[in-house]
Amino acid sequence: MINPAKTCQPIGAMYAALGIHGCLPHSHGSQGCCAYHRSTLTRHYKEPISASTSSFTEGASVFGGQANMLQAIENIFAVYNPEVIAIHTTCLSETIGDDLKQIKKKADAEGKIPKGKEIISAATPSYVGSHVTGFSSMVTSMAKMAEPTGKKNGKLNVIPGWVEPADMEEIKRLLNLIGVKSILFPDTSGVLNGPLSGEYKMFPEGGVTVKELKSTGDSIGTLAMGEWCSAEAARWLDSKHKVPCSVLDLPIGLQATDRFIDALRKVAGVNIPDEISLERGQLVDMISDMHQYLYHKKVALVGDPDQLIAMTEFLVSLDMWPMHIVTGTPGKRFEERIREICKDLPYEVNVRAKGDMFLLHQWIKNEPVDLLLGNTYCKYIARDEDLPFVRWGFPILDRQGHQYFPTVGYKGGLRLLEKILGVILDRKDRDEPEQSFELVL
Ligand code: SF4
Repeated sequence: MINPAKTCQPIGAMYAALGIHGCLPHSHGSQGCCAYHRSTLTRHYKEPISASTSSFTEGASVFGGQANMLQAIENIFAVYNPEVIAIHTTCLSETIGDDLKQIKKKADAEGKIPKGKEIISAATPSYVGSHVTGFSSMVTSMAKMAEPTGKKNGKLNVIPGWVEPADMEEIKRLLNLIGVKSILFPDTSGVLNGPLSGEYKMFPEGGVTVKELKSTGDSIGTLAMGEWCSAEAARWLDSKHKVPCSVLDLPIGLQATDRFIDALRKVAGVNIPDEISLERGQLVDMISDMHQYLYHKKVALVGDPDQLIAMTEFLVSLDMWPMHIVTGTPGKRFEERIREICKDLPYEVNVRAKGDMFLLHQWIKNEPVDLLLGNTYCKYIARDEDLPFVRWGFPILDRQGHQYFPTVGYKGGLRLLEKILGVILDRKDRDEPEQSFELVL
């Protein structure tokens, strides 16, 4: 692989864990891994990311990390007093073969876990999968906290997938508008898009609570958004606790949002509120007003499977032509889904799971495009090939706004469209000959 289109499993596990209120993510491995994972999240979210580490040295690498982990559990509860420690492994601790469940049992037996406090864990070896796999594993561990009482709570579990804090906020706004009571997990809104208050809070206000996670086994159903990030947790709740689940695409773009809103409408048994119909109408209006500038524009995309599937459908609905699509995350179904979405286009789409940025660049050289969509690492390709480029996905290390403005829902669709049109029209203004350089577009 040259320039992988993915990053480490633990980064996803760490991001998911930050969506639990009062949770301290813990990296079971060397300090270097933890520092890298924290800094990647800090650079993307522009917020300090707290996480602890088992600080492996030569001894732990040879004899195993159990002693380090037990000491860490004691220290963390004594010094930081979190509600939950969310442990994820790393390449090293997985290779040694450390068994987190057994270590947790030992910690419990030795009285190292204070009453009412929780430890959850996820195996996240980075030599398989990607940050998406790590995210999904930690979300499944959250689902495993469910403790059904046998009495339904009247709520819908909503698993939003790996989206920005602003997207989680937007999903909650839509749930409230339709009147669906919900437990959203993970929920990083209010955690990674917080205000500068001048006061440091080790554990910000946001996040799903432990009480809510325990109650997910009593919910009326689960709506999981994204096959790669959310489906495993939803299916686990379904098979273990008989909480029926549906798996939808991420609500990015017009059709995927329509399906999401329709699913919520059915759960609530209500008509779609006027406010949401208005937002949909605004998105349709902008699409029809600006369609001429989008028509048959060729696009290259790189990112994570759930996002790419929804975005490709959105682009096709805009009459744009997604040409080259790459994810670093494995999964054959990804290529099938993309081909299915693109089946009526008059060309064969280039799509690859477990691909890399080098492949994407080669494809672009062979068949140039009008627009590039992807994370910050795409800026090198955009510069080399002189391409209009919209930063989208994870990580975005050199721009701001992604934490604060949603890309899900109809409002998110408007924002995406604004960004796409912005770079396409800027390019038009730059390249248009003098006689057709227009003031009004
Ligand atoms: S690839 Fe493995 S060793 Fe490297 S930072 Fe990620 S978890 Fe640590």
